[in-house]
Amino acid sequence: MAVKKAHAKRAPATKAHGKKAKSRKAAAKSTVSAVPGERPAARGRIDERDLLARLKNGAVICAEGYVFELERRGYLQAGAFVPEVLFEHPEVVEQLHMDFVHAGSDVTQALTYYVHREKLRVIGREKDLVPMNRAALSIAKSVARKTGTLFAGDLCNTNIYDPADKSSLKEVERIFDEQAGWAVEAGVDYFVAETLGWTGEALMALKAIRRHSKVPVVVTFAMHQEELTRDGLSPAEACQRLEAAGADVVGLNCHRGPATMMPLLKQIRSAVEIHVAALPVPYRTTYGQPSFMSLTDPCCGDRRAFPVGLDPFVCTRAEIADFGREAFALGIRYLGVCCGAGPHHIRALAESLGRKPPASRYTIDMSKHAFFGTDKKIRKIQTDYQDKA
Ligand SMILES: [Zn+2]
Repeated sequence: MAVKKAHAKRAPATKAHGKKAKSRKAAAKSTVSAVPGERPAARGRIDERDLLARLKNGAVICAEGYVFELERRGYLQAGAFVPEVLFEHPEVVEQLHMDFVHAGSDVTQALTYYVHREKLRVIGREKDLVPMNRAALSIAKSVARKTGTLFAGDLCNTNIYDPADKSSLKEVERIFDEQAGWAVEAGVDYFVAETLGWTGEALMALKAIRRHSKVPVVVTFAMHQEELTRDGLSPAEACQRLEAAGADVVGLNCHRGPATMMPLLKQIRSAVEIHVAALPVPYRTTYGQPSFMSLTDPCCGDRRAFPVGLDPFVCTRAEIADFGREAFALGIRYLGVCCGAGPHHIRALAESLGRKPPASRYTIDMSKHAFFGTDKKIRKIQTDYQDKA
């Protein structure tokens, strides 16, 4: 409560960054009120590189989960999940970005997830730290500028954060500091700090970004089975802390599917005044197994399905569309899908908000199907066989 009060004095929260705030305000003013979820870029009347102006105007869709998709495509190893593909097949990363934009993503996020010092140390490639980060940033920037999407920098969980260990905190600070610095040099439009399990680590990421830049910052927590951050706060409380520390958008990404993320999102939406982000994994998580790491597959001796046996749990497009509609109706405007998302999920999300991304040209139309079609060109001998098909 105290957090909320302090925050209210700084009204309105989303215009807190000096000069930038003015241009955001002017940009947002120049638009008429949008159709829910309308893609602002298509209107051509607001600064397309201004995240907060876009959010003011409607939803912003951000495709995430690149490492899972690259793993499925055969260019990344499950386990360490480090995107070495940035060196080995940069054209594949570029195509993936293009595929997600084609499907409706408003954002091209640099694939610097797990390209930090600690992950590269684990796989013995620390020497590639700088060029790998720069490669990720340069690929994403080129796609973003080509497509008119927002160019986002990315910081993530370090996996070494330990509030009781000063040397670990120092290393976390270094990781965030250097990655934030490279992203700022590349000219990111805004930052995402994602998949964070500790409030303390999230605050450190935000601080590091703020040392380098005034661009907007989205901070998202990834909730495991417990409905508490690893330092014991509810996600709503954790988001309030981030709001008070100056984050522009707060919310949740990864780990939980729509069904088990939604209740937490509702709590967050009513606890903060700033924009809220929601990027679930596209898996059917349940009350008993609320995170995708906890899902077990009854077909296979109840073995853990994560990470490469999750296929039977994948959400349909309709489920993602339902999630998009429900979240947007709650006032959640920063929307996406995380690990496990394919372009078809992003298109379903975009269409649930009334949009027609280029990929919608190929959205399902069964009227000319060989058995189920209703078109008069479909022969009766086929449609008569429908029930046996
Ligand atoms: Zn994820």
